[in-house]
Amino acid sequence: MEYRTAQLHLETSKLMGVDFIPIGTTPSSQDKQSLLDELCVDHDASCPHCKSATGHTNTVFGTGNPDASLMFIGEAPGMEEDLQGVPFVGAAGKKLDQIIEAMGLSRIDVYIANTLKSRPPDNRTPTPDEVAACGPYLKSQIEIISPSVIVTLGSPASKFILETTTGITRLRGKWGAYKSIPVMPTYHPAYLLRNYTTEIRSQVWSDMKQVVENLSL
Ligand code: URA
Repeated sequence: MEYRTAQLHLETSKLMGVDFIPIGTTPSSQDKQSLLDELCVDHDASCPHCKSATGHTNTVFGTGNPDASLMFIGEAPGMEEDLQGVPFVGAAGKKLDQIIEAMGLSRIDVYIANTLKSRPPDNRTPTPDEVAACGPYLKSQIEIISPSVIVTLGSPASKFILETTTGITRLRGKWGAYKSIPVMPTYHPAYLLRNYTTEIRSQVWSDMKQVVENLSL
């Protein structure tokens, strides 16, 4: 089913008073991948941020298990991600892979996406306008994947998903929620690499242990 068709179907059902979907109709992993593929095409054709952005090579939509119970959300593609069209494949990505493995998972078990889907010039922090323009596509990705837990990596992702202006130092380690999905904000792996102290490492690990416990891994 096409993404827009599925969305229309859900909206029509809601208008007609359908407030739950029987378990038998839960989308399969294949259905979710098709919806994500449709959303990716829709994003590339229509995203107000990515269509007007300049200086990037590829948009970077997301990668991993479309039916993942755990979803990681970063900030925006960096140079390597821009070249390959895949999120978290540079130095920060290698650190994220290590974190995922330490949790007893591998990259193919989880879904990884970013708040912005095209690289900001000189890797600068996304502006609120850019996040407001591109962010709705991330929210549609979350709707499709429907993970049990979200981990937001760093300030821009955490602020956007938790709809707050509070910075990551105060947010990290405390559960928040996006709709009814538990959200654990933690430091971005690039920040961890720049501040590779015992304190920051143990804070990130303590955040991830809470996620492991929540998911009963
Ligand atoms: N940093 C991010 O936030 N996302 C990436 O994909 C790579 C680096």
